[in-house]
Amino acid sequence: MKIKGKIINIVSNIFYVEVDQKIYECTSRGIFKQSDIKPVVGDNVIIEAEENTGNILEVLDRINYIKRPKIANLTQLILVVSIKNPKPDLLMLDKQLAFAEFLNIKPIILINKIDLDNEKQAKDIEKIYTSIGYKVIITSAKEEINIADLKNILNNNISAFSGNSGVGKSSLINSIFNKAKALEGDISNKNKKGKNTTTTIKLFEIEKNTYIADTPGFSNFEIYEIPYKELYKFFIEFNQYVGNCEYVDCTHIKENKCGVKEMVGKEISISRYENFKKIYEELKDKEDYKW
Ligand code: GDP
Ligand code: ZN
Repeated sequence: MKIKGKIINIVSNIFYVEVDQKIYECTSRGIFKQSDIKPVVGDNVIIEAEENTGNILEVLDRINYIKRPKIANLTQLILVVSIKNPKPDLLMLDKQLAFAEFLNIKPIILINKIDLDNEKQAKDIEKIYTSIGYKVIITSAKEEINIADLKNILNNNISAFSGNSGVGKSSLINSIFNKAKALEGDISNKNKKGKNTTTTIKLFEIEKNTYIADTPGFSNFEIYEIPYKELYKFFIEFNQYVGNCEYVDCTHIKENKCGVKEMVGKEISISRYENFKKIYEELKDKEDYKW
């Protein structure tokens, strides 16, 4: 019987394919050798199914693909920053936002540890990003504030959490999981592992059609895939002003008559523009280094 499912886990050569919340242990017998495609977690596949086992016949087209950790078809990236311990890292956030835009994955910004917001910073951060058009949620995993909002956002999506270590990713995930799943998944331990150990990734179905990827986040390594000349495209609020630049190949860095620079401190926030420049230089250095 041929059926369609989703790869939620891979252990050595066994592919765990979920079909309507039933898991089939599948093989993929060499059929992908001609083409370049290797099935990864998140892939939608057609399998020839027996009772509890199957063989992957086909990998369906991907809407996106991340190389490290390998995962396909994420619909959402939850980009987490915290108010304190560690303090908000907007440079990291802007990098990850550009990365999400580059990959064509919808970003959601999550500001966690609102219980520590004595200086009322959350509102300022929220304003920067909602004015661009991003969805921002403000939570406390510790005091379970707005966890219901987070749950709503996850509904019917395949989401991964990303952000610096210590911002509360595992705490947030644990707060939305039911206890059994949290134990089974042991997501918190996974997150503590070093960068190089995590080559595999799993999808957890927390509710029907709602999946969370257990990733420790995405490294700079991935962000360096963005060609520096194209970076401005992924600062989505810049786009409407590039028509006012004097040169078509304006870098929006050094030029005098630049539509983007004219708007800094007005429609474009200073922190976004400063971070754009930093990331631009970083990407440029990396690209120069390649040659
Ligand atoms: P991760 O590295 O991003 O997975 O972060 P963790 O979930 O391991 O959290 C790091 C630390 O922050 C832990 O000590 C958590 O108890 C704490 N923490 C997480 N969320 C909150 C929160 O909303 N408020 C406060 N005060 N502490 C939090
Ligand atoms: Zn310009």
